[in-house]
Amino acid sequence: MEKVIEHCDVVVIGGGAAGMTAGIYCGRARLKTQIIEKALVGGQTAHANEIKNYPGFPEGSTGMSLMELFHKQAKMFGVKFRLTDVRAINLEGEDKVVETFCNEFHCKVVIIASGGKPRLTGALNEEKYLYGKGISFCATCDAAANTGKTVMVIGSGDAAIEEGIFLTKFASKVIVSVLHDEGVMDCNEIAKSEALQNDKMEFLWNTTAAEFKGDDHLHAVALKNSKTGEIVDVPVDTCFVFIGYLPNTELFRDMVDMTCDGYVLTNERMETKIPGVFCAGDVRDKFLRQVATAVSDGAIAGYAAERYIAESEMFKNQIMGEAPRLVYLYNATSKDDRELLSILEKYEQSHCDLLFIKADVYKSNGIAQRLNVGETPCVTYIKGNQIVGCVSCGDICPTALDDLLKR
Ligand SMILES: Cc1cc2nc3c(=O)[nH]c(=O)nc-3n(C[C@H](O)[C@H](O)[C@H](O)COP(=O)(O)OP(=O)(O)OC[C@H]3O[C@@H](n4cnc5c(N)ncnc54)[C@H](O)[C@@H]3O)c2cc1C
Repeated sequence: MEKVIEHCDVVVIGGGAAGMTAGIYCGRARLKTQIIEKALVGGQTAHANEIKNYPGFPEGSTGMSLMELFHKQAKMFGVKFRLTDVRAINLEGEDKVVETFCNEFHCKVVIIASGGKPRLTGALNEEKYLYGKGISFCATCDAAANTGKTVMVIGSGDAAIEEGIFLTKFASKVIVSVLHDEGVMDCNEIAKSEALQNDKMEFLWNTTAAEFKGDDHLHAVALKNSKTGEIVDVPVDTCFVFIGYLPNTELFRDMVDMTCDGYVLTNERMETKIPGVFCAGDVRDKFLRQVATAVSDGAIAGYAAERYIAESEMFKNQIMGEAPRLVYLYNATSKDDRELLSILEKYEQSHCDLLFIKADVYKSNGIAQRLNVGETPCVTYIKGNQIVGCVSCGDICPTALDDLLKR
């Protein structure tokens, strides 16, 4: 099948909190922005029953309704959503290509915001009972179906315990398998004390899943006691696994730099090592994976994408060119750089045959990077699309510029 080719400024891979925030920033900067989401708009957050720590919502919010607001805001800024998965990408060069089943999107910037997927326990027969057959990763989705039943939660982090508490509103019993010694949990203290006081919650300490058992559907989880080695079958109707997440980065392997466990490495501007490729949210190597930090990453990536496109255009259309030109790279916040600007403006008046371009590195550091200029102020001489030479800092004066133009 021939793919339909579409052109846009920015393609965001993933429509979770990070991707939608990046979309809001790009859309607001009037960039033609396409978000591609393979599953549910809202990502993992849409699966969270209750979000209590996202600022601005003192009463808390369901993950789904919070994500609906993000979605509405992104659409308001003209961001387009496509519900399909990204299957292949080519990130090299200026024209980047993102492929889905039907389309080939050509764009200037790609923002990777593909988030994470649940980590599996690795216990025997786990694959057999995944999704709809007894093992779930989403309390919001599967709680009602377990009304009056016995369920197990594996894990003791924030997601495990908070979702476990939510499950007690439906299930008659919530058995929590915790890896640690009695009383030791990975979640926050508020969730911990609420869970320990909940009559419907029962804790099995020092246990890990050894095997999932049943027929077409899960009936029991064999838990192994890590202290005694004893294995006990615990009958359950559904087992909710909340033991962390793995990054969705298979698609980008060997393209961008990653940690050994597959998280994408970026700098603080969310730039990967490939120009024009940014990364935001849970998929990135970082200290805290939450909605608030996904939003922060997304905002930076969206803003950086806008700067990158503006700088690329300025570089192509103004900085480089056939006709001789002097490019003054300066920092508008520096008094010395501003004073030098007036000297250069006088020099410009006496050289009408020369183009004179100013680039404020405070706003557009990318121009300096493209010209390999590390220190400002700096005057670079460009002729015939080539960098001929430069004069920097204290050396900048009319005589030095005359010498530069003789090269
Ligand atoms: C049960 C649960 C409870 C949570 N509770 C809280 C909480 O109370 N407070 C809090 O701050 N955080 C909470 N979190 C964490 C929060 O949800 C995440 O930090 C947040 O979702 C990260 O957003 P993201 O956009 O980086 O990634 P994600 O939300 O993972 O979104 C990534 C999106 O990319 C899509 N995608 C992946 N690969 C492709 C591809 N090839 N093509 C197209 N699309 C693709 C995925 O389908 C997904 O929708 C919770 C998470 C879970 C699972």
